[in-house]
Amino acid sequence: MHHFLKEPAFILVLVFMANAIKADAAVPRREVSDEQIVAQGQLVAAGTYVEIYQHGTTVDPSFLKVMEDAYEQVQKVTGLNLDIATLGPKVCVYVSDAIAISHVWKGYQHQRDPKGIIFLNPRVYLGAMNAKNSTYIHELTHLFTWRFSSHTLREGFADYVALTILPGTSVGPNPAGESPGQIPAEVRQLLGTTRPAPDWASTDPVRRSAYYFASYQFVRFLVGAKGIDTFLKLYAAEKPEADVKSLYGMDREDAVKAALAVRF
Ligand SMILES: [Zn+2]
Repeated sequence: MHHFLKEPAFILVLVFMANAIKADAAVPRREVSDEQIVAQGQLVAAGTYVEIYQHGTTVDPSFLKVMEDAYEQVQKVTGLNLDIATLGPKVCVYVSDAIAISHVWKGYQHQRDPKGIIFLNPRVYLGAMNAKNSTYIHELTHLFTWRFSSHTLREGFADYVALTILPGTSVGPNPAGESPGQIPAEVRQLLGTTRPAPDWASTDPVRRSAYYFASYQFVRFLVGAKGIDTFLKLYAAEKPEADVKSLYGMDREDAVKAALAVRF
């Protein structure tokens, strides 16, 4: 009999796998740049609003309809039109096996160089095709709301729209039906502020998950309280911390407390 669990090689494989999973959850892989994927991607299908490209993987042309339907649904839920003058006439979606974390062009730095481009990894693409993962709607929402002052409102609203259109799906770092439990104080104090995303939101899977989940809870609470139009006023505000008071009649801290008290 062979005792696999006592084999050093087997243990090494386990350690390697654990690290690989961690890397996929949080650390963006940047060996291949956004520019390279755009230069190398092959056109699969083009529609009214969207063009689909593949890079190092094969994409079914029927994905075009999934993205075009999502485009119309994001329009409907948000009441917004895409800023075509800035982002270009069509949204270009690249599905690439060189992508670890799905993102819009330049990720958290998109606002400095706004373009209508989305990068999806193959896992998120397959999840879009079987309606189990709504990250593609999250990224599309970022394009419709590309001008932001609060990163937590940006991420929370993208999850809110994705989960409104496809309830009960996985989105971003959070698997369907799982909540990260207690939200740490360092996450709570960022909600609805203009402070930039901390490094740990990219590098630490546990705090990253809490950051996205709490941002979603906060936005869901605000939209539930006063509707989308009032929320979008707050979203567009230069100083949302002050405007929470005038638009919602409560301090940011109280709104956060109320939002996080809602159980899912
Ligand atoms: Zn996002």
